[in-house]
Amino acid sequence: MKLRQLGEFGLIQRIEREARRIQGAGVVLGIGDDAALLRAKAGEDVAVTSDAFVEGVHFRFDHESPRTAGRRALAATLSDLAAMGARPLGFTLSLSVAPSRDVDVVLAVVKGGLDVAAEHACPLVGGNVTASRSFELHVTALGAVTRGRALHRAGGRPGDRLFLSGPLGQSALERARGRVRHVPEPRIALGRALAWTGRVSACIDISDGVLADLAHLCRASDVGARLRVSALPRPPGFEAACRRVKRNPEELLLSGGEDYELLFSVRGSAPIELPPELRARTSLSAVGVLARGGLELVDGQRWEANGGPEKGGWQHF
Ligand SMILES: [Mg+2]
Repeated sequence: MKLRQLGEFGLIQRIEREARRIQGAGVVLGIGDDAALLRAKAGEDVAVTSDAFVEGVHFRFDHESPRTAGRRALAATLSDLAAMGARPLGFTLSLSVAPSRDVDVVLAVVKGGLDVAAEHACPLVGGNVTASRSFELHVTALGAVTRGRALHRAGGRPGDRLFLSGPLGQSALERARGRVRHVPEPRIALGRALAWTGRVSACIDISDGVLADLAHLCRASDVGARLRVSALPRPPGFEAACRRVKRNPEELLLSGGEDYELLFSVRGSAPIELPPELRARTSLSAVGVLARGGLELVDGQRWEANGGPEKGGWQHF
């Protein structure tokens, strides 16, 4: 069935039905009214973040299934809440899509997004659908974070050690292959745990590539950094897989993007203590240190000299 046969309100009803599977503790009034009502706990601030996912720019159905595209959209948005140390309260979804699209494709994208949202107890609380030539999802996520505990990009100081969660490069490698199945996990639990330690001086999620995002963190903190390229965590067999698609492994690690791992700086030399259940499924790698001056890559093979903080990474314009 095509969307024009189902109609706007038919589509909204189908989405509402799918959305019922996610309950959120902070929802006073959910989907279906003119606006949703959300409630943070006393002593919390509300975090808000928005992302756009446009067919041909962020996803393409000859590379990935509609469900994977939807999953990646929500993962990207929730990753920004993770980088603030926030717990999700809910999200809105605005869909722009051509009336000639198959209903099944559109609903598969929505279900993919709801899959990831469900994993993080983040209910769909509203949105909009509109006819459009292009297929676009606009996701706004709201979260809550204890006042004074939010993680920021600013706050890093020379000497703070840099850590990175999880491996980099998998998303970029799959895009290079033209076959995308990997959906990064937004590090919500890790971000919240890091916020509670009170020792994380700056934090950012890796959406544009570690080089570009480290540059963002450095600029916000008004510091430089030394990044050890050889210490960047990567999936097993990564170098050989890159060679097969004729891509430079270091370039994909540094600038591939869509990794959605957390890059953060820590004050002092004591180890970061994570809750045991999180420690068991989180690998943290020490990848460098904040420093005075510019951004320097240490022991990279090709990028050895300082490429400058602007070099590499995804930029739209
Ligand atoms: Mg971000």
